[in-house]
Amino acid sequence: MLIVQKFGGSSVADARRIEHVAQIIAQTYNAGNELVVVLSAQGDTTDELIEKAREINASPSKRELDALLSVGEQISVSLMAMQLEKMRLPALSLTGWQAGIETDSVYGDARIKTASTERIRAELGKNRIVVVAGFQGVNEFDDITTLGRGGSDTTAVALAAALHADKCQIYTDVEGVFTADPRKVPKAHRHETISYDEMLELANLGSQVLHSRSVELAQRSGVVLEVLSSYVKSPSTRVGAFDESTEKAAVTGITADRTMPDAAKVSIVGRGLTGTSGAVEIMLQALGEADIDAQPLPAGERSFSALVPKEEADRAVRVIHRKLFEE
Ligand code: ASP
Ligand code: MG
Repeated sequence: MLIVQKFGGSSVADARRIEHVAQIIAQTYNAGNELVVVLSAQGDTTDELIEKAREINASPSKRELDALLSVGEQISVSLMAMQLEKMRLPALSLTGWQAGIETDSVYGDARIKTASTERIRAELGKNRIVVVAGFQGVNEFDDITTLGRGGSDTTAVALAAALHADKCQIYTDVEGVFTADPRKVPKAHRHETISYDEMLELANLGSQVLHSRSVELAQRSGVVLEVLSSYVKSPSTRVGAFDESTEKAAVTGITADRTMPDAAKVSIVGRGLTGTSGAVEIMLQALGEADIDAQPLPAGERSFSALVPKEEADRAVRVIHRKLFEE
């Protein structure tokens, strides 16, 4: 099988984590698979690079910021290739442009136009493990671009689509897609499958498991995503064209988007959530009972959101989760 495996920043945060991920890679490769690995920058590297830029220039050009930020992923892939070399596995690292990722010129939020895979195919043909820097590409001017925060997922999906991979596995620090962020809501439960549309809505409303563009691209190109933990061997969540009408609760998940400056947006995502559906009432009731000041927003097609004070966002998600899923 040809498999694309993507590992997020926390999964490759330090030498010990890199060694652990290398074991997963080794197992996959030794089982006889062709393997393309996509990596994010280690830990908080991207934030630290942004900070470094700010120390020099409060508003650097986006071109130079991309040149800087792309370095984070390049550190990860070269270190991983060295780790694999040490394990006597044939591996090499490639930057986005070496891997043929061509993008438009929207620095900082570029879209992948094509992934020309000749180089990757040639290396796979030599039985090598190809380790590709996520989150970056090259534009028509041969300048480095980046794909927006969280964009390594999109690199993985683009390569899986272009290579017609049999599997696209997104390894992260949680064991799949849950009814709420399991790091904050211990009783959240994992979905075995989830549809592209619901996943996209979750991603757009603040779930950080997958970059929303990666979900769009997966849907357009028919790539089924498997989201799983790089920490523990566990079941996963598959994201694909799954039937939404199967027997399961109407609410798929609860998210909190903290990206706005003075409020957080807490949302429930699911099917047929009009402003009058039962789940919406339960949500508003839960917030009321917890004394959380909530301003409802107009209902979306698959979601319902309310603004809450930023410092109450986590508690809001927990009380809604309790009412919807734990009682
Ligand atoms: N390193 C980039 C970020 O922090 C891209 C990614 O992690 O996917 O946003
Ligand atoms: Mg991510």
